[in-house]
Amino acid sequence: MENLIKLVEQWHVDRNLIDGATDKDQVLKLLQEMGELSDNVCKGKDIRDDLGDMLVVMINIMKRNDISMEECLQVAYDDIKDRKGKMIDGIFVKEDDYWTEERVKSLDKTISEISGGRP
Ligand SMILES: [Mg+2]
Repeated sequence: MENLIKLVEQWHVDRNLIDGATDKDQVLKLLQEMGELSDNVCKGKDIRDDLGDMLVVMINIMKRNDISMEECLQVAYDDIKDRKGKMIDGIFVKEDDYWTEERVKSLDKTISEISGGRP
């Protein structure tokens, strides 16, 4: 894996895509590649090339910012490892992003107190 990453970095250097491009340029390219991924997921087609293309672009951004894939994954994992939440319609929703039953009851109580029990 490390060797492949180095080959991709050199591919970018050889084509002046590190000094000759910007993070903004590459983020737009990443969105383009994500669109291709979306298209192929929706059509049930092979997505390996799309995911690989996205990694190629992300490696460009990492190279320009002198950060490694491992650092990025470690930061992301540290952020999510203790996260609590639940699946809602196939999406993992963070606990802070949905209203728990306790929160709803607490809000109902507060509203009731403010309104003096009036509906
Ligand atoms: Mg592509």
